[in-house]
Amino acid sequence: PKSSSPLAANPPSWLGVMGGGQLGRMFAQAAQSMGYQVAVLEPARDCPAGQVAQRLVQAGYSDAAGLDALAAQCVAVTTEFENVPADSLSRLGQQVFVAPDAHGVSVAQDRIAEKRFFVGCAAKSGVLPAPHKVISSETDIASVGDELLPGILKTVRMGYDGKGQVRVRSREELHAAFHAMGQVTCLLEKMLPLAYEVSVLTVRGADGQSVVYPIAENVHRDGILFTTTVPGPNITAECAAKAQAAARAIVAELGYVGVLCIEFFVLADGSLVVNEMAPRPHNSGHYTIDACVTSQFAQQVRAMARLPLGEVRQHSPAVMLNILGDIWFEGDSEQPREPAWDRILGLPGACLHLYGKDDPRRGRKMGHLTFIAATLEEAQDQLHAACLILG
Ligand code: ADP
Ligand code: MG
Repeated sequence: PKSSSPLAANPPSWLGVMGGGQLGRMFAQAAQSMGYQVAVLEPARDCPAGQVAQRLVQAGYSDAAGLDALAAQCVAVTTEFENVPADSLSRLGQQVFVAPDAHGVSVAQDRIAEKRFFVGCAAKSGVLPAPHKVISSETDIASVGDELLPGILKTVRMGYDGKGQVRVRSREELHAAFHAMGQVTCLLEKMLPLAYEVSVLTVRGADGQSVVYPIAENVHRDGILFTTTVPGPNITAECAAKAQAAARAIVAELGYVGVLCIEFFVLADGSLVVNEMAPRPHNSGHYTIDACVTSQFAQQVRAMARLPLGEVRQHSPAVMLNILGDIWFEGDSEQPREPAWDRILGLPGACLHLYGKDDPRRGRKMGHLTFIAATLEEAQDQLHAACLILG
């Protein structure tokens, strides 16, 4: 047999992941299917990733003993959520290979650092973020230029799925929203007229090589991703090329290793604006599990294990539908009932992924459903049929 590269971590070694949510679960499943063993660090005893991992280190994300136990078990550690304390990644990084590292994660988890980074590398990436301003006091509100209104006030940290955001039309509303948020430091962004939203999933290896997946078109509802369509019906070849080139420049500039997803806005005039980035696999990349040669989770494994990255080629058009807890409840009923999965699975091209969460709640991500087909139209038809079944 050919000898391995000295740094590569081959199966059946142990891989660790910070966080026990659905992204950690799908990471564990991908790693295990390649023969790795997986340890999850998560404070909750019952969690989607803990249900499938070989080991659950039940500890807080900053717990030194827990982190050291994870490092002692594993040859490499990754993260499944962007709010993992950067200090924890630094501590792990002194003991094992960590990808992504504390730097990339700390930029992505702070909207101010993220915006600064995007502005700083605009000459290389060719894209700018929305006009914005840091709001940390009354004085900041007083000096907001009219051109930033109407806008969206976003908390700097811990925002996700549209949480921690308020839309403001006037300075008075901005004032009220800033107080409603407890006067924590926020970012005010100009509200842009979005034609549509896209995301670019990219993976960069420890050797600096990167791969970029086909660009995905995303529809959000109430701030939560609703569907992802690839290829996106509105995306022009020019827009795709520009977004993919920007993504490559951004991961290289960050010196990033691992899976990174970058969200962009496309405006009515076709121009591209960079929104935010997630230092991990992304909801809009779930279609890669069923529609691409290598899934985003298998790439996460490859990047952290310092293996060659996999082929990103998409073999089937795909549409992904997020499954939220809402569909467990009929009308105003408080009593959940199981959706008709048997009927869903009777639809051609249906790939069902449920995350093992046993308490459905409205707005909670319970799973996703991807349809693959020979043509995008067929996949979309099946998705519509599924929506009729799920109600
Ligand atoms: P989150 O971390 O919750 O995903 P985002 O910054 O991506 O936060 O915002 C969530 C959604 O809100 C976006 O996908 C987009 O639909 C809308 N949005 C955010 N910022 C703007 C903006 N500046 N202009 C118009 N719409 C926006
Ligand atoms: Mg977002």
